[in-house]
Amino acid sequence: MIPRTDSALHDHSWQWHLQHSIKNANDLAEALGIHLDEVQTDFPLLVPLPYLNRIAKGDPMDPLLLQVLPRKAENDPSIGFSKDPLMELQHTQGPGIIHKYRGRLLIVTTGVCAVNCRYCFRRHFPYSEFQLSKKDWASVKAYIDQDPSIHEVILSGGDPLIMPDNRLGELAEAIESLTQITNLRIHTRLPVVIPQRVNEELLTWVRQTKLHLVFVIHANHAYELDTHVEAAINHLRSANVTILNQSVLLKNVNDDVGTLTELSWRLSQLGVMPYYLHLLDKVAGAAHYDVPDEIGAGLVRQMRGQLPGYLVPKLVREIPGADAKCEIKL
Ligand SMILES: *Cc1c(COP(=O)(O)O)cnc(C)c1O
Ligand code: SF4
Repeated sequence: MIPRTDSALHDHSWQWHLQHSIKNANDLAEALGIHLDEVQTDFPLLVPLPYLNRIAKGDPMDPLLLQVLPRKAENDPSIGFSKDPLMELQHTQGPGIIHKYRGRLLIVTTGVCAVNCRYCFRRHFPYSEFQLSKKDWASVKAYIDQDPSIHEVILSGGDPLIMPDNRLGELAEAIESLTQITNLRIHTRLPVVIPQRVNEELLTWVRQTKLHLVFVIHANHAYELDTHVEAAINHLRSANVTILNQSVLLKNVNDDVGTLTELSWRLSQLGVMPYYLHLLDKVAGAAHYDVPDEIGAGLVRQMRGQLPGYLVPKLVREIPGADAKCEIKL
């Protein structure tokens, strides 16, 4: 049963929301009052209720719905789209560790997310083989010890905030004990899709750590950022967390200058700095979201003409083998 009223929905814990997410097209169709086809896919449908609540009823082209709805096109073979477009499997240096760029080390903490975004570049990632388990900490520590250039640890996934706070608190403490590490970055969509995630337990370890904490959240459209998300972001900012946003440029979701400009202003209201606007990684099953590079560059050029410079995200593409994300020439 889907709770119908706002307040009932928002009083539940984040764990409750993880358990009560929408997991099939029929329930989604019923909740939104539209017809949806069931599509066979190995990447299941997953939509938590606080996110569902922001999708317009009766609109099959709602930009939030399009991010989470499996469509038949996912099963079409597309030239140039592959299962591991970023060749991450060649860059794993041990369980959970992906080290591509100097100075920062990325750790895949869990394969689980609170929402399944259809365009996700890790939708085929063999998480069970590579995610970090507790016993792997020794090898992460050894890896960092042998490379003094590393100053930042990035927790990624999946969504690292799926981990319980006692585990995250332990991990933050362990990372803090490595004196070469000054920054801890967390790549997470949870404060957006289930803002209840930012609770007292989370804020307790966040306030305790001496590391500079940076949260990179992920929103693609201003409609994702409702007042509950705003409250969650305010809590994090009060705890001295630096908050950045990354988006993916997605066909029919945010590929027009009005939508992108509105997103930047909304982020600014929340005190979140736009960081990256990613061109789609060419992952199998996501070709129907692709926006050509020239169109993306044109959109960001127009954003520059309308926004303060600090609200224009960097348009980037990840190129396997490059030493950083590649900025697209505007
Ligand atoms: C994107 C990414 C990072 C972070 O890059 P920044 O440009 O510092 O945000 C780090 N490691 C890996 C493997 C990445 O894919
Ligand atoms: S939350 Fe991030 S990692 Fe998870 S499915 Fe969405 S894009 Fe992928």
